[in-house]
Amino acid sequence: MKTINDFNFKDKKALVRVDFNVPQDDQLKVADNTRISAVKPTVDKILNDGGSVILMAHLGRPKGEAKDEFSLKHITGEVSQVLGREVKFVEDSIGEKAVQAASEIKPGEILLLENLRFHNEEEKGDRDFAQKLSQLADAYVNDAFGTAHRAHASTAVIAEFFPSTKFFGLSMTDELKAIDKVLKSGEKPVTAILGGSKVSTKITIIENILPAVDNLIIGGGMAFTFIKALGGKVGNSLIEEDKLSLALEILGKAKEHKVKVYLPSDVIIAESFSNDAERQESDIYTIPEGWMGLDAGPKSRDQFNDVLLNSRTILWNGPIGVFEMSNFAAGTIALGDSIAEATKLGAFSLVGGGDSVAFVKQFGYEDRVSYVSTGGGAMLESLEGLELPGVAAINK
Ligand code: AMP
Repeated sequence: MKTINDFNFKDKKALVRVDFNVPQDDQLKVADNTRISAVKPTVDKILNDGGSVILMAHLGRPKGEAKDEFSLKHITGEVSQVLGREVKFVEDSIGEKAVQAASEIKPGEILLLENLRFHNEEEKGDRDFAQKLSQLADAYVNDAFGTAHRAHASTAVIAEFFPSTKFFGLSMTDELKAIDKVLKSGEKPVTAILGGSKVSTKITIIENILPAVDNLIIGGGMAFTFIKALGGKVGNSLIEEDKLSLALEILGKAKEHKVKVYLPSDVIIAESFSNDAERQESDIYTIPEGWMGLDAGPKSRDQFNDVLLNSRTILWNGPIGVFEMSNFAAGTIALGDSIAEATKLGAFSLVGGGDSVAFVKQFGYEDRVSYVSTGGGAMLESLEGLELPGVAAINK
């Protein structure tokens, strides 16, 4: 893997693709700067070498039009504050103004280009646009894991114009190493926890990770399709009728790979999909008619805890209950505690993809797990075993 640590940027201009697609409040102020602080190590390394940094990013979906609300000028102040250095801003990413601004920056300085998606060519992966961007600098760095699954001009196509000076940034390197640590070089036993609502969105992930894991915990809404396929009565719980045979197939494949599968044995059931609904505990195979399972029960939590405390590598994707409703969050909280405890005991834990990342942030587990991925779609595609265009372009 060719990273920026393999290169000395002295007197070089580096064009760094970053993921600054940050949430903003009504005043367009940055509401969460995690994605900005993620690229600080990369920026520091280049500047400390004596190089200069040209940041390029997208924000929102301006669909090829220069719209003020999507301008990166609104976040330049925050970028400057987080990076701890002055950041200059230029109102376009290509053309005269961009060329002029890029030619004027000196070693130790940072320039932020305007939203790449003000040009339709960015998302189309247009080669001419990529070439114009490439002319602004001597080296290309991709530190935007969150967009690495897109074959856009700035995330993939541009790399061809830097055949010997294209590198992974440090945040991107961490993401790729974390995935590798789980799927390739993870210390055994490796345990994956897959939760969330539907089997259909997780099938490819399950199939891809089976050869790599020792234990597979299946929780959340998707567990009921497995339980029904195994002959259980699941009442009104979330179910995908057309995935019943697939669920059995997956269990068969797991057996072939000698993967131990853990499904919840008990659940917290409710009379309706509401936080105030009447609720009680139930065996997962005998949920009464009219009731639905919305959280893992206490026996399941204990069992998952045992598995996790005996694991050396943990991957977590998807909540195991409807944690958005406080009365059904306890199972996912217990799971978070178990993963945190296992991590304390020396296991490597990666939380990746969508709602489990939201959970970890909201409930304060961020510093109690080894790694929280910043890239939703990119992480999911990596777990599915797909080669991300942004990664391939640099490896090529
Ligand atoms: P996903 O985007 O597929 O990872 O699904 C995440 C969603 O699954 C969350 O919003 C949870 O509320 C939901 N979820 C978890 N457990 C259940 C359940 N037992 N029934 C319905 N939805 C669930």
